[in-house]
Amino acid sequence: MLIHIVVDKEKRLKGKYGALEIPQIDEVISTIDWAISNNIALLPGDDLQYLQKLRKSLILLMSKTLDRALSTHEADITKHDMFISNLSNLSETQGVDIISLNYDLLLDHAIYRKTQKLPHYGLNKKRPNTGYRLYKLHGSLNWAVCPFCQQIRTFSDKVAHKLFETQKRCQSCISTNLEPVLITPTMLKDYNIPELPRVWNEAFQALSTATKLVFVGYSLPPADFAIIELIKRAIHMKLRLEEVHVIDIDRDLEDRYKKIFGNKVSSNMNGFSGELL
Ligand SMILES: [Zn+2]
Repeated sequence: MLIHIVVDKEKRLKGKYGALEIPQIDEVISTIDWAISNNIALLPGDDLQYLQKLRKSLILLMSKTLDRALSTHEADITKHDMFISNLSNLSETQGVDIISLNYDLLLDHAIYRKTQKLPHYGLNKKRPNTGYRLYKLHGSLNWAVCPFCQQIRTFSDKVAHKLFETQKRCQSCISTNLEPVLITPTMLKDYNIPELPRVWNEAFQALSTATKLVFVGYSLPPADFAIIELIKRAIHMKLRLEEVHVIDIDRDLEDRYKKIFGNKVSSNMNGFSGELL
């Protein structure tokens, strides 16, 4: 079913797909989201209820896959710890703004190990002037939204993969059927979770006042047009940006960054080691 929705009709009829033709899971979820929000069936016989059930199953699959994949990664936390330690002076004087498109908790937990508390996520608390502010524009594995009162509750550890089996209580109302907050980039506006625009707005404010931006492992993919537009609008607000540094391993990326930031761009294509530059 997953593959049938998006692959070529001829191949679909033959039932043969190459590995490269299997779509990314977020592409499939985006397609289903689009169908749900427009009330359009993807295959004959589909109805809205079926698509909603399918979407829930896919989010569960994605949460469980991330949970298992990350358990093996979490042993390698040195880079993240070093990165957070290197920013500690800045965190104590003016605060550090980090924008992340990852659902995982590697940075969150590195911040916790350093400060004994989770970062400011920009959800429902006032922005602190110091410390670590982490804006997760696509949601997080430790966030859950209440479908009744629409509040996002945060947990100290991954919770998304458990929400379908264990009930978690909303902190603002009596509801116990919280749902994961894992957002696919193209359908952001259709999620209608009131607290998410706050996160985006705080990220926008941080970008608009930054004199230096450091991009780590981000390839500026065209599907992220909402993020790219956010960055472009923000840097033109106050024109404070002086420096852009790109840390990655793909040497072709620098040209893509130069199209947006011109000669402000410098790069380190040896990959992320936890050092600041
Ligand atoms: Zn609630």
